[in-house]
Amino acid sequence: MKRLPSAGTVIEAKCTRCRTVMNHTIVAMVGEKIARVECNACHGTHNYRPLKPPKEPAAAKAAPKKAPVPRKAKVDPETAAREEWAALQPDMDPDKAIPYDMERKYRMNALLLHPLFGLGIVKAVLPPNKVSVLFSDAKKLLRCG
Ligand SMILES: [Zn+2]
Repeated sequence: MKRLPSAGTVIEAKCTRCRTVMNHTIVAMVGEKIARVECNACHGTHNYRPLKPPKEPAAAKAAPKKAPVPRKAKVDPETAAREEWAALQPDMDPDKAIPYDMERKYRMNALLLHPLFGLGIVKAVLPPNKVSVLFSDAKKLLRCG
């Protein structure tokens, strides 16, 4: 059983003068609806305006949807190596490949043949004794002389 408000009932309402929610006493009803209220703070009477219903919890509704960002496939090092290999491969002459020897020195872009990784191309010389070599499916650091 819901008790209906009636004149004399104190309710919370937004006071137009206080500009805030205050206790009000109902002074006039229209049917079952509150018509006029008197502010208990400033004693001004004004038309009753129901309080706004509490805001919905900050749901996804309020948040503007982000434009779908095309997901850029992250290029992993292996893929990058394969692509680089594919681009360079036509220029490689396996006959000129030098069998890999860790005592040797290598120049940039020198072709070498590694017993495990196969044909590779020197992409960087890293002093004092390493070379970065691009093989068909990976870049590897190798010892050199
Ligand atoms: Zn007031």
